[in-house]
Amino acid sequence: MKVRDVSCPCCTKLLFRQGLLDGENDIWGSVQGNPKIVNHEQGDFMSCPNCSKWVLLQRVYTKTGIGYILNDQQWCWDKLPQPE
Ligand SMILES: [Zn+2]
Repeated sequence: MKVRDVSCPCCTKLLFRQGLLDGENDIWGSVQGNPKIVNHEQGDFMSCPNCSKWVLLQRVYTKTGIGYILNDQQWCWDKLPQPE
């Protein structure tokens, strides 16, 4: 499987690895051994294994599974954001 590294927007080290889900549309999913994705009211988050900040992911649905992209906006939360 084709795999790529995704670096953390907060510390630029490796955040997680993605496998190609849908080559035509360039959609990438998560692969085993990644930090757990936490489904939160504000979105899907992953805690960086290097700086332990919370990074916001964006979910993308495809025929072959759920893909993830990094959200354009990142605040590098120390804790998961509280709902307003
Ligand atoms: Zn980080």
